[in-house]
Amino acid sequence: MTGNAPLLEIRDLRTWFPVRRGLLNRLVGHVKAVDGVSLHVMGGETLGLVGESGCGKTTLGRSIAGLERPRSGQILFQGTDMKVLSRAERKRAARHLQMIFQDPAASLNPRLTVLDALTEGLQEHGLLEGSREAEGARLLAEVGLPPEALYRYPFEFSGGQRQRISLARAISLRPALVVCDEPVSSLDVSVQAQVINLLMDLREKHRLSYLFISHDLSVVRHLSDRIAVMYLGRIVEEGPAETVMGSPLHPYTQALLAAVLAPGQPRGRKLVLPGEPPSPLNPPSGCPFHARCPKAMDQCRLDYPPASATETRRVHCHLYPPRVPDPAPLLAP
Ligand code: SF4
Repeated sequence: MTGNAPLLEIRDLRTWFPVRRGLLNRLVGHVKAVDGVSLHVMGGETLGLVGESGCGKTTLGRSIAGLERPRSGQILFQGTDMKVLSRAERKRAARHLQMIFQDPAASLNPRLTVLDALTEGLQEHGLLEGSREAEGARLLAEVGLPPEALYRYPFEFSGGQRQRISLARAISLRPALVVCDEPVSSLDVSVQAQVINLLMDLREKHRLSYLFISHDLSVVRHLSDRIAVMYLGRIVEEGPAETVMGSPLHPYTQALLAAVLAPGQPRGRKLVLPGEPPSPLNPPSGCPFHARCPKAMDQCRLDYPPASATETRRVHCHLYPPRVPDPAPLLAP
């Protein structure tokens, strides 16, 4: 990998799920959860991925982490196409790419003590230096937990503490990239702030990159260098965090921000926009947002909008010519 090469590059990725019905289990279609996504994450960078629930962002994260099998497209990690690796090579590469989940209770094995959970990966990859206890205690200290926690089980901890343990486990293998799937959305607001600060400290200390998936725009803005906005399996807008949040171009991004900035909206609530999102099983023709878009034109019902882009910014909307215009605030930041 050269100095300017992305740490992670995704090219035209599609992850579809077959839908079968009837006595004969006949294939009737596919849920196109991820449908032609291209993205990149640079070393030391945090890319925020936002969108309504069901837009495909979790499936995209799981595909990158190797937990879903894409139908087509490429995932290049540290310059290598994960698809061409042998099983053993993929396992070795996978240690540099970890994932933490919304529900740490579900991702930690309830039958393993914290010591086992923190050190099993190290042993598997031959990375254990010194005793398991010393390494486990060092990892717990990194996430602000005492060494006595090593001998307890996940159910004995609060949600925030379990997320700290998940983080300790993720960094145990010294990854370059951590995919964070809604890591604070199940936590109380006061605990959320602590875990976000911890994520930022660990990023600084270990030079981590994050793909940070969340529906909470304020958290994403706070943490991210760049933001990608996803709708119905596709990226509709992408660019530097301050620019996308300060002067969103795509009507969907504008609607997301307007919904969050509306007076009286509690922070961190689920994003809900007027109108039903179309089914990813049967996406509409043209721009998939046209049925909900206040600016829709005839062309929007017919053609999928190509990218309008500069070096740092990309938007898929017929309102824009092939080059994105200079940012002009459309909404108050
Ligand atoms: Fe709205 Fe048309 Fe742009 Fe889609 S392409 S967001 S429908 S204006």
